[in-house]
Amino acid sequence: GRSGCCKSNSTFYSKRNPAPLPANQTLDVTTFISARAHHGVTAFIDASTGRRLTFSDLWRAVESVSSSLSDFGIRKGDVVLLLSPNSIFFPIVCHSVMSLGAIITTTNPLNTNREINKQIADSKPVLAFTIPELLPKLAESNLPIVLIGSGSGKGKIVSTLDEMMTKEPNRNRVKERVTQDDTATLLYSSGTTGASKGVISSHRNLIAMVQTVIGRFQLEDQQTFLCTVPMFHIYGLVAFATGLIASGATVVILPKFEIHDMLSAIGMYKVTYLPLVPPILVALVNNADQIRKKYDLRSLKWAISGGAPLSKELTEGFIEKFPGVTIMQGYGLTETTGIGASTDTMEESRRYGTAGMLSSNMEAKIVDPDSGKALEVNQTGELWLKGPTVMKGYFSNAEATASTVDSSGWLRTGDLCYIDEDGFIFVVDRLKELIKYKGYQVPPAELEALLLMHPEVDDCAVIPFPDKDVGQFPMAYVVRKNGSNLCEKGVMEFVAKQVAPYKRIRAVAFIGSVPKNPSGKILRKDLIQLATSTTSRL
Ligand code: AMP
Repeated sequence: GRSGCCKSNSTFYSKRNPAPLPANQTLDVTTFISARAHHGVTAFIDASTGRRLTFSDLWRAVESVSSSLSDFGIRKGDVVLLLSPNSIFFPIVCHSVMSLGAIITTTNPLNTNREINKQIADSKPVLAFTIPELLPKLAESNLPIVLIGSGSGKGKIVSTLDEMMTKEPNRNRVKERVTQDDTATLLYSSGTTGASKGVISSHRNLIAMVQTVIGRFQLEDQQTFLCTVPMFHIYGLVAFATGLIASGATVVILPKFEIHDMLSAIGMYKVTYLPLVPPILVALVNNADQIRKKYDLRSLKWAISGGAPLSKELTEGFIEKFPGVTIMQGYGLTETTGIGASTDTMEESRRYGTAGMLSSNMEAKIVDPDSGKALEVNQTGELWLKGPTVMKGYFSNAEATASTVDSSGWLRTGDLCYIDEDGFIFVVDRLKELIKYKGYQVPPAELEALLLMHPEVDDCAVIPFPDKDVGQFPMAYVVRKNGSNLCEKGVMEFVAKQVAPYKRIRAVAFIGSVPKNPSGKILRKDLIQLATSTTSRL
């Protein structure tokens, strides 16, 4: 079993300065924004229109929108769905909902109606915010909708964000007491196994993460961050929609990610910090010479990679091509509210291949997956994490919660790691059933369940296939039913119709039977080995 005992001397502690958790503080914008921000300073810039929101604009908008939501009947514990690309309005919606003690659930705008409906059925929102273009994705939901931006479309539209933002706050509105223990966000992650589940992050989790974000960056001077990562994902949410607001930095937002827009925005807004995912770094390194000729990147001081492994080669390539930019890395999970470990200086990043050192207030154990025994320095096992950013659990899924977080608060990350004598964490492999395509989560169990619905599929297994540009892509091994002529294209198209583009199956192989252990578990490692040894190039 995996639950064996662990010696207390096998616990690794963070070497970062402790970040004290502010007592009683919740994600209430009045206390939250005033901490460091100067009210006249720009909080958010929309890079496509140049529209700016100062910290006072943001504060006023949140006051008005939360008041409108309260008048609408939104109360503590209610779930509100936010289906939107990155925009300067995204943080306004999040903070308005959270300040009432209500819960924000986000979803990828690329998701299909089927995928969104599944999340709605699970999280049971009472209201949705979306943009006109995405209204068709909520067509079957029958949810009351607040429209972000101008435009119209079909749906039960009850108001617009503009209208809510310009309304005078109702002084007599219901103000329920929100505590740090209350749930703030419900982001979806497949965890170590199975389908997507709602990750319950509390106000305490997010406040603790905000402390980590503030502690990590050089924020004495006014810094400008460029947001290239999606705000519906924990990475974008904690950095851009919460953490940096509290730190008083300026955030430039690209509504749609495009590498040319990203590079132009750096020069245009004198961006100093560029958080991104490894595939964008690959593109930067591969085209470095043209990029440096064409764009003004002189303001850029830091690039931060997260969400997926950053290889030694890529780090070295980046340092060589962009010598003036310090590269840093963050490692984390939705289940740890973002960052759990990071490299915070060039010197730390020169420990090539490391995912970094434990964040403030974090503890780690390396546990042998077979014996459950806690291991020592430089020994490889599953990384367990404990600390104030570890989620409360999965939403209405006691079973998944119990197998992921133990009774003393240790979270199983599903990542195979070791920690060296200086406290640097190295991610060796992934134990859990998770494919990461460009940093996006693709749960194989979800694709397998879909494939099994195909009338000509007898059995199947979906595995991560390693790829230099995207990290990994989903590959399917399929056992056809007797007499079937199902071809590779047929398999790929069957799945593509039902899932978001990043979840598409990009390679197929047919096999006589799926290798499984005696208890019926798919032997994915064997299939990965088979795939990588027989397929030189797909
Ligand atoms: P998510 O919940 O989408 O953030 O996915 C979390 C998973 O992404 C982790 O458990 C790791 O498998 C992977 N991951 C995130 N950041 C890193 C990193 N810096 N290095 C290696 N793997 C990472």
